[in-house]
Amino acid sequence: MNAVWIDNEVVPADKAAKIERETHKLEKRLCRQVGQAIIDFNMIEEGDRVMVCMSGGKDSYGMLDILLKMQQRAPIKFEIVAVNLDQKQPGFPDHILPEYLKSLGVEYHIETQDTYSIVKRNIPEGKTMCSLCSRLRRGILYSVARRLKCNKLALGHHRDDMLQTFFLNMFFGGKLKGMPPKLTSDNGEFIVIRPLAYVAEKDLIRWAAHRAYPIIPCSLCGSQTNLQRVQIGNMLRDWEKQYPGRAETMFTALQNVVPSHLMDHKRHDFRAIKATGIPDAEGDTAFDAEEITPPALTGLPGLQVVMA
Ligand code: SF4
Repeated sequence: MNAVWIDNEVVPADKAAKIERETHKLEKRLCRQVGQAIIDFNMIEEGDRVMVCMSGGKDSYGMLDILLKMQQRAPIKFEIVAVNLDQKQPGFPDHILPEYLKSLGVEYHIETQDTYSIVKRNIPEGKTMCSLCSRLRRGILYSVARRLKCNKLALGHHRDDMLQTFFLNMFFGGKLKGMPPKLTSDNGEFIVIRPLAYVAEKDLIRWAAHRAYPIIPCSLCGSQTNLQRVQIGNMLRDWEKQYPGRAETMFTALQNVVPSHLMDHKRHDFRAIKATGIPDAEGDTAFDAEEITPPALTGLPGLQVVMA
């Protein structure tokens, strides 16, 4: 029988052809979603020098991979520099990323700074180290971007991260606030972009498996897990299991905000509301129960919350 080898297993030719078709579809979807996010939020412009922040996790590998593909076909010229910060966490395999990036032929820089020791020295045993660690990391990455003359920093957060952040802020922070696809850095110096804003985590997991990235585990620092984030992640996965498609509807909602129907008087001038005397077919009926119609979804298929 005609067959090919995949993962030490003989796969019949028809199954192999199906896998190839699915992988091709996945690649097209990833490129389309990243391209759409770049257009919708004007993430990358002519002449940009984009510092792609690499952690060694599946998301940053996927982001670099897709951005390099986009660079080939984009109608504009922009540069990519892959950057990894080696924080000297015990057991960090510091040869993996340089070897991988060299093999791609992409411009890259590894910044080595022992923030791990600083954090260990300053945070009492048992307390979470993440806040100091990420503050130090942020400062270092800004200085690296400055040195490398990059004007944009690309981060590998995807849309499941964005949904999680939205619910974290609502449940624990009392704010309707998500994770922006594009923002100005807190020091005002750089633009931070999230080109994977429309990409589902499940797709990144499949793509990483297909590309066999040399993933570096993220638990090296041994810091505590963010329990609130884990809780929210579980809640979203349960919802998606019970009500398939809910995650996509929620993600669409983040793109369809109606401030006049929330209660933030700083965003909407409720005080100034007056009767106009002019009927409005689209206006609120006030007394009748509102009919909820399913949204026109983003047209960006593929959002699925990853099942644990
Ligand atoms: S998980 Fe570890 S590496 Fe990540 S921010 Fe927290 S302390 Fe730093």
